Amino acid sequence: MSISSFHPPKRTLMGPGPSDVPQRILDALGRPTLGHLDPLFIGMMDELKSLLKYAFKTENELTLPISAPGSAGMEACFVNLVEPGDKVVVCINGVFGKRMLENVTRTGGVPVIVDSEWGKPVDVAKVEAALQANPDAKVLAFVHAETSTGAVSDAKALCALAKQHGCLSLVDAVTSLGGVELRVDEWGIDAIYSGSQKCLSCTPGLSPVSFSHAAVEAIKARKHPVQSWFLDMNLILGYWGEGGKRAYHHTAPVNALYGLHESLVILQDEGLENAWARHAAMHRCLAAGLESLGIRFVVDADSRLPQLNSVYIPDGVDDAGVRQQLLEKHNLEIGAGLGDFAGKVWRIGLMGYSARMENIRLLLSALAEAMQAQGYDCDAAAAIAAAEAAQG
Ligand code: PLP
Repeated sequence: MSISSFHPPKRTLMGPGPSDVPQRILDALGRPTLGHLDPLFIGMMDELKSLLKYAFKTENELTLPISAPGSAGMEACFVNLVEPGDKVVVCINGVFGKRMLENVTRTGGVPVIVDSEWGKPVDVAKVEAALQANPDAKVLAFVHAETSTGAVSDAKALCALAKQHGCLSLVDAVTSLGGVELRVDEWGIDAIYSGSQKCLSCTPGLSPVSFSHAAVEAIKARKHPVQSWFLDMNLILGYWGEGGKRAYHHTAPVNALYGLHESLVILQDEGLENAWARHAAMHRCLAAGLESLGIRFVVDADSRLPQLNSVYIPDGVDDAGVRQQLLEKHNLEIGAGLGDFAGKVWRIGLMGYSARMENIRLLLSALAEAMQAQGYDCDAAAAIAAAEAAQG
């Protein structure tokens, strides 16, 4: 058997992530590998921490990328903050809230579940009632941007509630970072994790995290050692910590970190607020185009994530058939429904570098063509005109 090199085609990625990776980042990934304790690499790590602080809008010293995907960032937050017997109010309004619950139980925490309808934000009144009924709760955990549904929750209000009830807030920002307003210090977020492959448009596999002073104090005051050696923030700090000597913890994914550094330089050059505004503007164009095709949104306009558009698959249209045609004929990926939404919705991503007019035009024309092939009546040119008119 002889296997030759893998050469993937160039796809347009408009699913729930990963998003399109710009050539500038792909070039950065191919730069010469340095030793992970090389002084030049350590200088780059310091810059990376500053850039992440900018993206998170925080001064938290403990801000760094975990060397693993978003799920590892989630796990890092839970294993460090939750000890056996700790009560955690965990909000579920989609797949990733459920994953948080799994983390609570696996760390030996005692979950208090607040369920909200899929496609809606986390219900703030229900959270308040849960916190009132559980004054001994240590952590309030929720997903800011639910990628499985496309709903954004009111992180500011939820974190304020956590503070009011003496809880630490633990926030999933995998899909929100760089795409919608997010202010770690101003909103009083105590532990937060994200992913490299969504609105930062970097390759998958890294998870930026940040911990507040209160969260660090809680980690230091633990009665039991963190059960995960790899994700123990006390140990990771020895490698990523400020000043002093950097001690070996694990071999950093050197080139992947060049990629994240480049993606954050791109974000800094665009300006964080400008990136939020671009996602919102591109969403308005996409929504105008989709509505012109007769496609309905799952999430109400006031709680829609611009970067993740969940829409109902029109009656009589075959989900898998359309996605297959988009992929095979147009090299275009959109996402299927997850969990309760499987087979009922498509998830169309406008994340990071994918949030461009050129992608929106391609999506609208290719989607119209694929649906027409199944007998659905729609007009691609009118949809593109509607999207362009929404540009303002
Ligand atoms: N949380 C949310 C909201 C996500 O969308 C994802 C991934 O899609 C994750 C967590 C897990 O991230 P990863 O797939 O990088 O492990």
